[in-house]
Amino acid sequence: MTTMTDVHPETRAFEADVAKLLHLMVHSVYSDRDVFLRELIANAADACEKLRYEALQTPGLGSGDTPGITITLDPEARRLTIADNGIGMSEADMIEALGTIARSGTKAFMDRIAAARDAEEARLIGQFGVGFYSAFMVADRVEVVSRRAGTDSAHRWASEGLGTYTIEPVALEDAPAQGTRVVLHLKEDAATYTERLTIERLVKAQSGHVPVPVALAEKPD
Ligand code: ADP
Ligand code: MG
Repeated sequence: MTTMTDVHPETRAFEADVAKLLHLMVHSVYSDRDVFLRELIANAADACEKLRYEALQTPGLGSGDTPGITITLDPEARRLTIADNGIGMSEADMIEALGTIARSGTKAFMDRIAAARDAEEARLIGQFGVGFYSAFMVADRVEVVSRRAGTDSAHRWASEGLGTYTIEPVALEDAPAQGTRVVLHLKEDAATYTERLTIERLVKAQSGHVPVPVALAEKPD
């Protein structure tokens, strides 16, 4: 197995609109930050759906494993991990999906928020849903390790939500066999999101209709 220690992470700047959105998330006074979990579970479920769909056109794509989402709690490290065995992301997918504002809903959100007052901000966040970047309401560092189905390379995207992110290749043994792992290094005041009862309650309340089973695990292996 080759080591990757000679490969330095590449630092890239977020698109201006993303930087603005992230600033909003990092400094959000929005009280319902619980919604980050709903957003990440929705993305994980979407990824499983995409794999199922693409496998119709490309038989044999993916492992054939039952689609699943696993949430791993690590209170000691104050870390929360959301993993799926869905379609995964290539390096180019990551740059596009996690560095620009690709979703039309978010663009509309940004237009509205530009004109909004503080009090209205919270309402707009709730109304639009904020997608992946909402992770930065509860985490001061987010890592995404992903391997796209049908490829044999994997990458790690990481950011503290402060204008830049890094991308680097990772060894396959350090990546999910298939799909994506989102690791949240939780803020000091967000430690509750490593508690089983909190996560169980949120999954039930927010993600009851997700078409992919969600399992809880206590610690990363
Ligand atoms: P949306 O889900 O509305 O497209 P998000 O901000 O939630 O917007 O996510 C942005 C994009 O990042 C997704 O469209 C998808 O391409 C990519 N993405 C996020 N999470 C995952 C994941 N777990 N697996 C694969 N792709 C993902
Ligand atoms: Mg989403």
